[in-house]
Amino acid sequence: MPPSSTATPSVSRAAQLNVALGVLLLAVKVAAWWQTRSVALLADALESIVNVTVAVASAAAIAVARRPPDRRHPFGHSKAEYLAAALEGALVILAAGAIVREAALRLREPGPPAALGLGLALAATAAFGNAGLAAHLRRVGRRERSPALVASSAHLWGDVLTTGGVLVGLGAAWATGRWILDPLVALLVGANIVRLGWRVMRDSVGGLMDESLDGTEVDRVAGAIRGAMGDALQFHDLRTRRGGPRTFVELHLVVPGAMRVDASHAICDRIEEAVQRELPGAEVVVHVEPESELRASLDPPGGR
Ligand code: ZN
Ligand code: ZN
Repeated sequence: MPPSSTATPSVSRAAQLNVALGVLLLAVKVAAWWQTRSVALLADALESIVNVTVAVASAAAIAVARRPPDRRHPFGHSKAEYLAAALEGALVILAAGAIVREAALRLREPGPPAALGLGLALAATAAFGNAGLAAHLRRVGRRERSPALVASSAHLWGDVLTTGGVLVGLGAAWATGRWILDPLVALLVGANIVRLGWRVMRDSVGGLMDESLDGTEVDRVAGAIRGAMGDALQFHDLRTRRGGPRTFVELHLVVPGAMRVDASHAICDRIEEAVQRELPGAEVVVHVEPESELRASLDPPGGR
């Protein structure tokens, strides 16, 4: 049985608060940019747009991915998360492109932003709001053991750091009159957004391409199979992959040719349980073979 959603009421409330407050604080940042026309503040606001979009899209994708398998999607809907993540990655890179373009234009003729005091006050307000929200999400996320909330909290802390960096940069520009700091800070924020986008893209492409579980997890699975295989002679062609929150494991199991079907089936059930103790909720498929299929070498075809 696939793992069921563990969204307790307080987790759902915190997730809703995350989206609602995220939109509000984003509006404050856009106002700060609108007042000042500072590229650094624009970059900060764009990073928040990315964060809010990611929060909404991943909430929607998680809802789709949790649907049970149906006739048209017998392997479940878990790849929806990767599709959403790939779209988010594209969006993030667009946002970074917009920042780099604005900053490059401003580098040629840097000038003092308008109403800088008001802009900085608005940005600082947004940063305090985000810090409070991040602390709340982390508290609820830890108490209710929700990795999604803890991840959102980490995301928001990144946002607070960005705004802090922008405030320091613009404050220094204000104090020294070196307005070139405004586009330079914007370029730094743009580079960080590219880094975030790259991570999102890499993970989603790995999932879409059926990347194997990582080496230590595969080793744990292999150990579990070895411990549960009883009178079976060998296993080979162990393959693992991930679909969002779900994991899939398949292997070939070689048994003596005269073993009864019910005996080999009992071994398969024990292997399934042992693997699921390592990877809760994993879907395990075992293909049973007679000893004529014994493999001399256990290396996967084509090597790694
Ligand atoms: Zn085989
Ligand atoms: Zn069975």
